[in-house]
Amino acid sequence: MGCVLADDQEQRSVTALFRLATRQLDISAIGVFSCSGPDSRLWAASDAFLTIWPGCGDRPDGENFPTPPHVGEALERTEVAKLDSGAFGLENGFAACSPVRHNGVLIGYILFLDLRRRWLGPRAAQGIHDVAELFAALLVNVTPGPAQRLAAAAVDTAGPAGSPGLSHITAHHDAHLMIRRARADPGATNPVALMLLDIDRFHAINEALGSAAGDEVIAAIVARLEAHLGDDDRIARIEADRFLILSTRLSESLPQFAASLLVLVNESVRIADQPVSVQATIGLVAPGSANTSAPVLFLQAESALRRGKLAGGNRIVTHEPAIEALDQEQSRLEIELGEAVASGQLRLAYQPYIDLRTNRIAGAEALLRWDHPHRGNIQPASFINLAETSGQILGIGAWALGRALKEAVDWSGDLNLSVNISALQFHQADFVSQVDRALAQSGFPAQRLELEITETVLLRNDPETIGQIRTLIARGVRIALDDFGTGYSALAYLARIPHHRIKLDRNFINDLTSRHTRDLVSAIVRSARTQGLAITAEGVETAEQLQAVRDLDFTHAQGWAISQPLDNPAILTGARALEITA
Ligand code: C2E
Ligand code: MG
Ligand code: MG
Repeated sequence: MGCVLADDQEQRSVTALFRLATRQLDISAIGVFSCSGPDSRLWAASDAFLTIWPGCGDRPDGENFPTPPHVGEALERTEVAKLDSGAFGLENGFAACSPVRHNGVLIGYILFLDLRRRWLGPRAAQGIHDVAELFAALLVNVTPGPAQRLAAAAVDTAGPAGSPGLSHITAHHDAHLMIRRARADPGATNPVALMLLDIDRFHAINEALGSAAGDEVIAAIVARLEAHLGDDDRIARIEADRFLILSTRLSESLPQFAASLLVLVNESVRIADQPVSVQATIGLVAPGSANTSAPVLFLQAESALRRGKLAGGNRIVTHEPAIEALDQEQSRLEIELGEAVASGQLRLAYQPYIDLRTNRIAGAEALLRWDHPHRGNIQPASFINLAETSGQILGIGAWALGRALKEAVDWSGDLNLSVNISALQFHQADFVSQVDRALAQSGFPAQRLELEITETVLLRNDPETIGQIRTLIARGVRIALDDFGTGYSALAYLARIPHHRIKLDRNFINDLTSRHTRDLVSAIVRSARTQGLAITAEGVETAEQLQAVRDLDFTHAQGWAISQPLDNPAILTGARALEITA
């Protein structure tokens, strides 16, 4: 993600926000601009934004991206507006923008781009407005640093606005000092635990009731917290709606103490005789090693707090090094995956499968491979899931389909190509036209393309999904149900979903020595064959298994006994050099 942020932590948070918003709205890309007019700067953008809009690709050494003048002017229309997508060099799709406000101060603009649709629908303007508001709220809650810098920049240019705040806000370095002092206090009975308490969606309270009401809410909560804390606790307000609490209570009593703080906050505050309900989230760091420095402890609390906010707020989340390390590792991998397509680190291997009746190769399945420049070869098991949860599978899957079709054009004779399609990809409204386009661009015949879908696709048993499958079938494309038997085994759906092939999961093949499994598999094969379906045995590793699946009357087999996935599919272009005699 391109953005000018103080540190990696903040960068990761904003990346997570973009991911959430693009997924929820199902749009291609998001950019945030610091202000409008000629001084406008692109402050942060999703990766897709930077690829779609090449104008902002050059980043003059560490400066924010300059916004092309016509875009800056377009942003000056302060209400939600559909912008002329031509101004962004987009032939298709739409651009829309909405102002982002923090405590009533205009801090920037959020811009949405989508290449696939001309507009979001009749209620789009309200939807976009809501997202801009939510974005501002999340930005403030999750990444206060950049939001405040943006707000400060906005105040600098727009003059002071709103109230200066309730009382003294402790700077972060003073908070660190406070932690150090508490830990060094010879009178302390127990080691020091840290809590960061942050009001949920405080921005929304300010927006709905005005900043004076927001101040009253904070004042009420401050009073309650102060009254509740004991001699073992200290408190500092470190941001408008965020408090640092240090406690030397016994470790065992900390969760209960934190819960009592949430209960206090939860009691509604009366503003102009109306009850306003307030919630908060607490990031808790239990007393640990005395070697951990104060700034690190503080970061740990922030990180736990952020997890709590992302999980929906109104909860206590304890710092857990293992989870946070994993989170960080996952977000790092996710960012790297974003770069992988662009820089050509992804490629496809092809695993042949044979027709058991002729013993010849019938086709091959395209399997993603990631040649990471530092981490070496990363298997799909380590990144497909990540690509799905982050939505990156859409771009990666489209790339894989297009690439596989182009490569398979050189294959000999009537070999078929199988491509895995994730549920997310399949459920895109324009998935059929993506397939049409990829087929047309490659010249590969639709009749030789098979799409492998899993049971998760079938779980959404809506008319659109079934209609989409029928349209694909009408084009000549075939449908295979992959990993059959692993998921929800939604047999009821099976009857309604048209398909040509079942790929029986390799767990069954692995277990064919068990009589029970063998009987079950035999029944599945018989049922498939009766319906005229092809049925592939997946993961056939040994000659014995190959013989067994032959005996069981499978139509096709795939697995190491036949061939590993091939990095170089030359064998597929030569006239069937791989013949199976087993
Ligand atoms: P899958 O579609 O079921 O692919 C078969 C997987 O089994 C492949 O793993 C393959 O290398 C492995 N395999 C093949 N023969 C044997 C065998 O005899 N024994 C064992 N133990 N394994 C065997 P791979 O390449 O790691 O891919 C894993 C999964 O990642 C795939 O499972 C598929 O669900 C997903 N995937 C791979 N490429 C793509 C893609 O382009 N798009 C999508 N959406 N998913 C993909
Ligand atoms: Mg597959
Ligand atoms: Mg499979």
